[in-house]
Amino acid sequence: MTVGHAFACPYNQVARRLAVLCTVAVFAANAQTSYLLLDATRKTVIAIDWRAADAPVPVGSLVKPFTAIAYGQRHRMRFPVFECTGADCWLKTGHGRIGLAAAIAHSCNSYFRQLAADVTPADVGEVVDRFGLRGPPADCDRDTLFGVGSAWRLSPLDVARAYAELAARRVEPGVAEVIEGMRLSASVGTAAAVGRALRSSALAKTGTAPCSHSPKAAGDGYAVVAYPGDSPRYILLVEVHGVVGSQAAETAARLLPVLTGAR
Ligand SMILES: [Zn+2]
Ligand SMILES: [Zn+2]
Repeated sequence: MTVGHAFACPYNQVARRLAVLCTVAVFAANAQTSYLLLDATRKTVIAIDWRAADAPVPVGSLVKPFTAIAYGQRHRMRFPVFECTGADCWLKTGHGRIGLAAAIAHSCNSYFRQLAADVTPADVGEVVDRFGLRGPPADCDRDTLFGVGSAWRLSPLDVARAYAELAARRVEPGVAEVIEGMRLSASVGTAAAVGRALRSSALAKTGTAPCSHSPKAAGDGYAVVAYPGDSPRYILLVEVHGVVGSQAAETAARLLPVLTGAR
């Protein structure tokens, strides 16, 4: 699409490429940020700056969509409404009465703790296997099933590919509800920074996990973005050392336009 323009105005083209390279280099020079960009259809890597993208790490709430699907499979793809009082959620004022899509959008721990009471590690393992992910330990506690702690570790590359598969199955029962949650996340939820940065829609999920670096920080933030939202062509996964997931979403929102031309 830019060939004609490149012939007409080669200096502009070169300058634009340099600007993109410089912007990416700023991110790359910042050891706090790792990212990988996949072609959503082929699941191939388009761009990557991640020291060990195949080394398993805890990814926090990025596992929630898959646990939700595991619950759905056991319950005819019907999802409950629960009450979040804040007592066992990161949002201490509570999310109130909340259903699956909003629980994914706002990453409500209380909702998922109640949901996870009705699935086993084997249920979750069976579902994530179909998305190319390693399952949680067979003897893990309930909180591990929705991304608390570091007992369940996943390779970032596999996680990005699993989200590409999720996007490919976006109209399947159960998956559609999860996708709706990711759409909400990118507009009004924990990944709202993505929606603010783009004019077109996107799907997103955030996670906060124990830090996997040395020296240690309080935690690492993760954000995954599928873009465009209606028919994803790209999957961007970002990890930012020492921040929470919503801040990783701000980084993803800045990176996505640089890497893909998303607007
Ligand atoms: Zn909550
Ligand atoms: Zn870290």
